[in-house]
Amino acid sequence: KRRKKLEETAYANALQSDLAIRVISDGVIVCNSAGHILLINPAAVRLSGWQTGDALGLEVSSVIHLLDEQNQEFVWDMKSMKEPIARNDLRIKGAKLTPVEMNIIPCDITKIPDYKIISGRTGGLSQDNFIITLRDIALEMKSEEARMDFISTASHEMRTPVATIDGYLDLALNPNTAGIDERARGFLEKAKEASKHLGRLFADLLDVTKIDDQRQELRYEKIDVNKFLGSAVEALRGLAELKGLTIQFANDENRVNPIYYIMADARVLSEIVSNLIENAVKYTEKGGITVKVGSNDGFVTISVKDTGIGIGPEYISHIFQKFYRADNRDTREIGGTGLGLYIVKNSVENMHGKVWVESEAGKGSEFFVSLPRVK
Ligand code: ADP
Repeated sequence: KRRKKLEETAYANALQSDLAIRVISDGVIVCNSAGHILLINPAAVRLSGWQTGDALGLEVSSVIHLLDEQNQEFVWDMKSMKEPIARNDLRIKGAKLTPVEMNIIPCDITKIPDYKIISGRTGGLSQDNFIITLRDIALEMKSEEARMDFISTASHEMRTPVATIDGYLDLALNPNTAGIDERARGFLEKAKEASKHLGRLFADLLDVTKIDDQRQELRYEKIDVNKFLGSAVEALRGLAELKGLTIQFANDENRVNPIYYIMADARVLSEIVSNLIENAVKYTEKGGITVKVGSNDGFVTISVKDTGIGIGPEYISHIFQKFYRADNRDTREIGGTGLGLYIVKNSVENMHGKVWVESEAGKGSEFFVSLPRVK
């Protein structure tokens, strides 16, 4: 009697789940370890361009065709799918190509609570099964694209008037071109600082939209890292010394005049290195900055070390995120956009490298960039 009651409950539950799966807008497919489709809901059928009945029992690989960004077909190898898979870079081939977010969740049915009750009738389920969900993200991608376009156009358009304001402020502040009293000078200097910040913000935003859109163009060339860093440090020496900080470029001390070559985009690399050095200057009050280069495992590693405020462990995992700024008394007074390190990380990764940081609050920071070495 008890068993009957349990079966009735299980049946009612199954009906409810079935109803939910039929009406939701996301595609849902259940298949067994051989990849045979046991359940496919109307949304999945719509996305794949098949008819419901036709797809049941077939192999998922012959029903769901997905292309990645390089137009390579997604390979349905159920044996290798031991862990959940989440992808949002695929398009499904149906009546048309639709961008989708796909999740594949492997599940072991012996682990479900009612397994004992249903074990006699598993309806084609094997021990290991896969739940595949597909969500149409065409609309989302369109609005994201429009948003990016807007930011990109807006920041581009705004750079011109900002440059004009900057130019006129320079003229007003130059004793050869304008006569102003000391109070006016104070005001204009503040305006000049703000216009510089605005110019930097627009330039950064433009870089970020290019990175996010995967439009960052890289022109690779062979770069002699020692030479490159030597002149990068010289270009920023004034900035550091203005704040009373020392700045030096030190070669790997264990080797006699080592030469390191990498293939990189010189403009982008220069932006990366200046960003790190400018940050080191910005977040340091006393002491100095040391830039070094070394090499191991086929990589050339550039490091920028400072004796500044450092970064607490609660911030460290976030500082490479977009718009993230460690929020404390020390940083609040220092201007910034929170975009610099995001640009650094993405630019380095686009050039097949890595970036990381070692730091302790109050003791200074050391940022590392490593890029593949060429002989
Ligand atoms: P920002 O424009 O705020 O400098 P970044 O993306 O360059 O933006 O840096 C993100 C955050 O990381 C900064 O707000 C700061 O809190 C922290 N940070 C970056 N470089 C350093 C450094 N050399 N020393 C201490 N903190 C740093």
